[in-house]
Amino acid sequence: MADKTLHPRTRAVHDGIRRSQYGEMAEALFLTQGFAYDTARQAEGRFQKVGPDEFIYARYGNPTSRMFEDRMASLEGTEDAFATASGMAAVNGALMSVAAPGQRIVAARQLFGSCLYVLDILRRFGVEVVLVDGTDLDAWERAVTPGTRACFFETVSNPTLEVMDIAGIARIAHAAGALVVADNVFATPVFSRAAEQGADVIVYSTTKHVDGGGRALGGIICGTRQFVREVAEPYLKHTGGAISPFNAWIMLNGLTTMDLRVRAMADTAAQLAGALQRAGVRTIYPGLPGHPQHDLAMRQMGSGGTMIAFDLGTKEAAFAMLDRLSLVSISNNLGDAKSIATHPATTTHQRLTEAERATLGIGPGLVRLSVGLEHGDDLAADILGAIG
Ligand SMILES: *Cc1c(COP(=O)(O)O)cnc(C)c1O
Repeated sequence: MADKTLHPRTRAVHDGIRRSQYGEMAEALFLTQGFAYDTARQAEGRFQKVGPDEFIYARYGNPTSRMFEDRMASLEGTEDAFATASGMAAVNGALMSVAAPGQRIVAARQLFGSCLYVLDILRRFGVEVVLVDGTDLDAWERAVTPGTRACFFETVSNPTLEVMDIAGIARIAHAAGALVVADNVFATPVFSRAAEQGADVIVYSTTKHVDGGGRALGGIICGTRQFVREVAEPYLKHTGGAISPFNAWIMLNGLTTMDLRVRAMADTAAQLAGALQRAGVRTIYPGLPGHPQHDLAMRQMGSGGTMIAFDLGTKEAAFAMLDRLSLVSISNNLGDAKSIATHPATTTHQRLTEAERATLGIGPGLVRLSVGLEHGDDLAADILGAIG
């Protein structure tokens, strides 16, 4: 069991470990989908009740995946967690497992394209989905009517880095009996205090900072034991959303260095955001005092995070800058050790209309930067040199 008096960096190295009879030091990769029973009666019993060190089938659970779930739950400060095939499987699983026709879900309109797509699926099945400006607590107050099933938002929005007030939204949601489901990818588990601030369910794409090397897809749903095992798990295990044990093993390795990596990336992001602003570029970074939710970001995360957005005005200027980069890659992942620049309007948010992009603040000149582990001076030279 997790010793909560230890620091998260320590727990990220040790928690959740299960050793086999060999006493292996490293987390073992149990690349098995099935588990043998000694007797038919034991199989019968296992299907009636699965004990803490017992498994049935990898779609339901696997020892390597369980190590990853236990370690993430420890870091996030929740009772339990269920690991999923991707971040979107986690978002889909958390929302689909709670929603029913006729119920209302209120969501921030500042969402990643695929999250908006999941909300459209819910609408097709008769769920009433209401979108609000996630930064406006009065808008949440008006939209969250008694009996609302859930409130859903990215705690820091992709790609415009607006910061949502978790405690404020939770107060409104809980007064109406609604569940607070927070997509916490941009905050990262390192800067997250989402559970203590009132989020009931916290989802991550662990493809990002948890893997940290851009290798494998993964996701996780963190929450109470009751929510994870009685609401989310039945939906996910029967619909095939479980993580591959191999990917869970990669994620476990990622967690051991996550605290060091993410803090170094955030320090460099702060350096770069300052340099961009001093160069006269319109820069969005929650760690800059001029950011509209700077105080909230500092209260909620204690950091501006590892992501920056900046606006070069036109698509032509953005493309010219991207094409001049040599160290920073043009790609669309984030949280990687390698820095990555993305043009949201033509890639991740291409599916939206220009008007929809405009309401979200995604202009044609906007560039999203995922700051990696390179030296900040090298990145500053590459990026400022490319802006010209
Ligand atoms: C990447 C991302 C997702 C989806 O995660 P995948 O692992 O790619 O499925 C969901 N939400 C946010 C905020 C993301 O950045």
